[in-house]
Parts: sequence; C-alpha cells; structure tokens
Amino acid sequence: MDPAVTARPVPVHLYVRPALRRLGDRLLVRGWLAITIGRSIISWRVLDSVELAHELEHVRQWQRHGAAGYVARYALASLRAVLAGGDWYRDNAFEREAREAAQRATLGT
Ligand SMILES: [Zn+2]
Repeated sequence: MDPAVTARPVPVHLYVRPALRRLGDRLLVRGWLAITIGRSIISWRVLDSVELAHELEHVRQWQRHGAAGYVARYALASLRAVLAGGDWYRDNAFEREAREAAQRATLGT
C-alpha cells in the first residue's frame, strides 16, 4: 500500500493571500503559485485538487526530513539539478516527486 495513504494524518494549514503574488514573483519563482513550509501551504489564489496534491507532497517531504533536513536536501537537489545542466526548480527531485503526486491525483490512482 502507498505509504502516503497509511501515514498518520496531520493538520495542514492553508493560507490564500492574493497580496503575496508579486512578492513571490520577486523572491521565489516568477509565476509562482504556492509555497509549502512545514504543514503550512501559502498560495496567492485558491488551489485546485491537483495543485493541492502537489503541495501536500511537499508537506510529506517536510515531515519525512524535518525542517533543517528538508531545506538542506532541497537546496542540494537544486544544486544537483543545475550541475546536471537542468533548472534548479523544475528539475529538482523534490519538485519532480511533487509533480508525480499531482499526476497521480489527476489520474485518481
Ligand atoms: Zn513544488
């Protein structure tokens, strides 16, 4: 069985803050939608179910690695992506895993 299904449920906080759109464009990724920090998902607009599945995968990643572990591993994954000739964000292993989770949500599997 999928470990994500058997994991103990945890509360997740959703914050929709349209005023953060421009700030995120400058500080995060241009065209950003949401960021997950621990069990908090912050977005500039309401997320659909697939977008939410992506962010919930990041919640699981934070739980799996802890705050310091997540930040360090995410940064390392970005470095690996760049050194491999890819994009620090798009080709980051954590982002790929989250996109795969979103894809599963799309397929309903
Ligand atoms: Zn992501």
